[in-house]
Amino acid sequence: MTEEQTVTPAESGGTPPAAPPAFARPGAPTATGPARRPMQRRGPRGRYPPRRRVCQFCVDKIDVIDFKDVSRLRRYLSDRAKIEPKRKTGTCARHQRQLAVALKRARFMALLPYTANHIRLSGISLRG
Ligand SMILES: [Zn+2]
Repeated sequence: MTEEQTVTPAESGGTPPAAPPAFARPGAPTATGPARRPMQRRGPRGRYPPRRRVCQFCVDKIDVIDFKDVSRLRRYLSDRAKIEPKRKTGTCARHQRQLAVALKRARFMALLPYTANHIRLSGISLRG
């Protein structure tokens, strides 16, 4: 009697251990209406640190973004010299469009890097 209890399912080898309950979804929507999950966190929180959603160009009343303003534009490139999305920087649509053009002009004038490789070669540090 005790012998049976000590044997684990993996050691017995005969029948495979019972499969886990098939895809139990705690927050699955029901027929009565959309499921509300009060306690569950939805999605990976903190992927980007929470920032204030204000467009820095609107705050500074900048009408036309100058591609020569490298110190300002630099903040809108990622560490791999990619243009940051507006969901990360809070830039409004109008200024995000201008910003993309200005960044590309600055790249063409060799004021800003195109790739991470350029950062290493030129020694321009984007952050800090
Ligand atoms: Zn703006």
